[in-house]
This record gives sequence, C-alpha cells and structure tokens, in this order.
Amino acid sequence: MSKLLVENLTKTYAGTKAVCDVSISIGDGELLCLLGPSGCGKSTVLRMIAGFETPSSGRIVIDGEDVAHLPPDKRPTGMVFQSHALWSHMTVAQNIAFGLKLRGLTREAVRAKVAQVLELVGLAGFDKRYPGQLSGGQQQRVAIARCVVLAPKILLMDEPFSALDAHLRVRLREEVRGIQQRLGLTTIFVTHDQEEALTLADRIVVMNSGRVEQIGSPSAVYAGPATRFVAEFIGTMNMIETMVAAEVASIAGMPFSVESSDGPHRIAMRPEDIALSHLPGPGLPATVERILDLGAIRMVDARLGSGEIVKVQTGKTEACRPGERVWLTAGAMVAFDADGTVRRARPLRPEARLHG
Ligand code: ADP
Repeated sequence: MSKLLVENLTKTYAGTKAVCDVSISIGDGELLCLLGPSGCGKSTVLRMIAGFETPSSGRIVIDGEDVAHLPPDKRPTGMVFQSHALWSHMTVAQNIAFGLKLRGLTREAVRAKVAQVLELVGLAGFDKRYPGQLSGGQQQRVAIARCVVLAPKILLMDEPFSALDAHLRVRLREEVRGIQQRLGLTTIFVTHDQEEALTLADRIVVMNSGRVEQIGSPSAVYAGPATRFVAEFIGTMNMIETMVAAEVASIAGMPFSVESSDGPHRIAMRPEDIALSHLPGPGLPATVERILDLGAIRMVDARLGSGEIVKVQTGKTEACRPGERVWLTAGAMVAFDADGTVRRARPLRPEARLHG
C-alpha cells in the first residue's frame, strides 16, 4: 500500500510564489497527472516530493510518514526526468544494476532483477549495449527500468517523453501505463500536454500560476471544467462573451438563462456539443466561414450575427459550404463569471425561431 498526501504545499523563490497551497492525495496504485502550462509549478511540486527542493511550508506524507526531513536518497520515491541522464560509460545492465549494488544485493539477485526489468520495458537482450548505441526512446526505457527496479513506493515522472517525437511519445506512454498498472505503482506524471494527461491519468490535477484549479478524472475535468482556465486549457471550447442581467444573457438575439449575478460572463460550449442544421429552426443563426478537414472529423467555423466565430464539430460526411446559412443548437453549456468561476447556463425558449 503506497499512499501520498501533499498538504498545503507552498514554495517561494525570492518573494515569488512558485507553488501556492497545493493539497493532493494519491491513492494506492493510482496514476495522477499534474497538468498545466509551462511555469505553473508542476516540476516544483514533484521536486519537493522527491526531496530536491525544500518546501517553504506544507507537508509531504508517504504511507503515514512525514518525509520532509529526509534527503532524496532516503525517500521511498523514484524519479524519471525528461533527459534520461544515463551514465554513458556504463552498459545498460550496469546502469540498471548500479542502485541495486548500492543496496548490497548479491550478484545473482542483481542479474535476475536486471533481466526481469529489461523484459518489462521491452529491452531484453540490450543489456550489453551502451546508451550511445540506443535510440532516444530506448534510452528513456532504460531510465524507467533503472528507476522501477528499485521498487519505489512512489514513481515520479517529469515530462519523461517531451523530448521524443509524437509517435514514440504515444507508444511509450501506453507502455508506461501498462508497466505502472502491472506493478501497481503509485505514480505522479508531470506534463503540459493535455492529450497525454487525458489518455494516461486516473485523475488529473490542473495547475495554473502555482495553484490547483481542479482535480478530477479526465472525463470529469473535460466535461465539467470548474474554472474558465480549465475550460480554455483542456480541449477546444467556444467562449462567447455576453452580459447577464436578472439571470438572462443574450447571444445574437437568442436568450440564455445564467444562474449568476449581473455582469460580464462567457458562455462555454464544446464544438462536439453543438448541432448544426441546414434548415431554419431553433438555435443561433450563423454563416459557415471555413471548414477544416481533420481526417476523422470536420471542424466548421460558423460566424454569428454578432460577429463571433463558433467552432462546430461535424462528421466527415457533413455537406457544408462556405457562405452557407446554418442554425446552431448547443446540447451542453456552462457559463463563467468575471472571476472565471463556473455557473449553470441553458438556452431559454429553445423552440424560438430566430433569423438574425
Ligand atoms: P513547470 O514545471 O510547471 O514548468 P516550474 O515548477 O519549473 O514550472 O516553475 C514554477 C515557477 O517557479 C516558474 O515561474 C519558475 O521560473 C520558478 N522557479 C522554478 N525553479 C526556480 C528556482 N530554482 N529559482 C527561482 N525560480 C524558480
């Protein structure tokens, strides 16, 4: 059983808060992704858990033990970095065996564990090669093997694949997920790539400016962003500016109910939640401006009478022409107030026929 509790973690550098009051709890065998733009504090959180940075305040508890006073090598954590940092003068087997030898294992035990872990990362037979004789992806597999062979309670991965090309990145993250699940390793994975987080994580922690914006499963964070930042950072989201008065807002003449106080708001709708009709009917009238063929789907840019562009996802077979008049209806939407806090929203009089 390996559980990690991070409580009110804060890190200040020369008066600037890099991490501010972050609290996260990670269950046994869970893979948690820290997701956010560059500079939002993800690596600093990870480095504090590993012991490479000292928190300004807060607690880090692993399986009930506060590890704050322990140096990195005494913590039950293992870290894989973006650059694999293998020892170039050592063979693959020697790189992996190094930590095991420090622990005083017998030669036979070391040999058996190295063979086992090389099999696990798909590098059986590569033991006598030097890092310079391996591809970038293979080197990163060795770095993972070197880490997991020491059976850490918590595996920490800091953008481990961001230096690799897109195809390899996808393959390696699937492999890492497989290894993590097979070993039941409690893991924190740092990435700025939302697709990586959405496909890998049991839960995602979305960070912005040193703070946690939202914690939830990939589907919960995607479908129910808690803040405007999350809505705009994850996936594609249409954000249409509007004013709310007496809980009613209007977009291109179409009224919406918004459960919020008076003032400027944004109504948020995902492209795949909007239906496009070629016949006049309920919904927002718009003009097709551009059609982007994305292979499996199409993305249609439709301009509202108010001048704003709404992105609508359609199927491959959708017959649409630039300049065509269409009517848009949203199946799901939310609103965000001026502070970026989420509010409930829905169209009023969906049966209304508007010809803006
Ligand atoms: P991320 O991993 O999300 O890209 P980091 O955790 O690396 O972000 O950095 C968070 C913030 O802390 C950034 O503004 C960065 O410039 C700052 N920072 C990180 N390390 C140091 C340091 N050693 N000294 C001063 N500022 C730092």
